[in-house]
Amino acid sequence: MLKTDITHFPQVFKIKRIVEESPTVKTFYFPWKFTDESPGQFLMIWNFQDEKPMSISSIDRINDEVGVSVKMVGSFTQSLHKLNENDLLGLRGPYGRGFQIAGSKVLAVGGGIGMAPIAAFADEASKLGVGVDLITAATTKEEILFDKRLNITGINVMPTTDDGSHGFCGFATELAEKLIKQENYDMMVVCGPEIMMKKLLDISNQYQLPTQFSIERYMKCALGICGQCCVDDVGWRICVEGPVFWGDQLMMISEFGKYRRNSSGLKKHF
Ligand SMILES: Cc1cc2nc3c(=O)[nH]c(=O)nc-3n(C[C@H](O)[C@H](O)[C@H](O)COP(=O)(O)OP(=O)(O)OC[C@H]3O[C@@H](n4cnc5c(N)ncnc54)[C@H](O)[C@@H]3O)c2cc1C
Repeated sequence: MLKTDITHFPQVFKIKRIVEESPTVKTFYFPWKFTDESPGQFLMIWNFQDEKPMSISSIDRINDEVGVSVKMVGSFTQSLHKLNENDLLGLRGPYGRGFQIAGSKVLAVGGGIGMAPIAAFADEASKLGVGVDLITAATTKEEILFDKRLNITGINVMPTTDDGSHGFCGFATELAEKLIKQENYDMMVVCGPEIMMKKLLDISNQYQLPTQFSIERYMKCALGICGQCCVDDVGWRICVEGPVFWGDQLMMISEFGKYRRNSSGLKKHF
């Protein structure tokens, strides 16, 4: 939900520190005065040329530090990966509806860079006494995210790799289904490639497990004005009504798992 007490102008911050999480992912930490930010919300990052959404991946209320984790994919993210500590970036937000922290035993599933909001959720939920089993999924060992950071917080971290180079060999969906059959979860939270989330939506329906999903659509203003991130047919703006939705809401988004729109509104099928 849009907050009324934020200006929507980017504030310029010095990068406090940078952590290399994998060959393609870096986490950028900034000083931050937290109010009611929640995991699953995102910031708009401005490199003084372009502006893009990035999920909050770390909420440290003791040291007043926020983290965003950036996967290098195109020109914007390449420009961020070239930055050093003390370089400047513009930040505005937080935006969107985050995850609701509930339940006593939760299965959290993050695929690839989808681990960014899931890591923040797992941290916050476990601080509040929720038991968290976490699947961090990647194609290969080098791309596994946040396993060491989260392991030391008491979260039960289970890495999975498509090639079997580390942890469970196979897809996150296979391990998730196995665990759901064995354990007594009262909630699941998911973020990752849409094909993975679609499969987990089916699994959550099959086992009647309440599940929250964080989804991505192309964003421009992040304020709910431009309509770029509206989804068919419900017309929800992912930047305002999302990016986190419960499974029953997701089933009302007819394009989910089928296609998304690019920057000019053209449908791109998955
Ligand atoms: C709510 C939300 C949270 C996100 N969180 C993260 C995160 O924590 N870490 C991370 O690395 N990435 C995150 N992304 C995706 C990130 O915004 C894009 O990967 C990034 O903008 C790519 O820019 P580029 O110029 O490097 O690549 P490009 O070559 O321009 O784009 C590569 C792909 O990234 C996506 N993308 C590009 N621009 C946008 C945009 N303005 N809005 C949404 N998607 C876009 C498109 O699918 C595109 O095909 C998030 C996206 C959304 C919507």
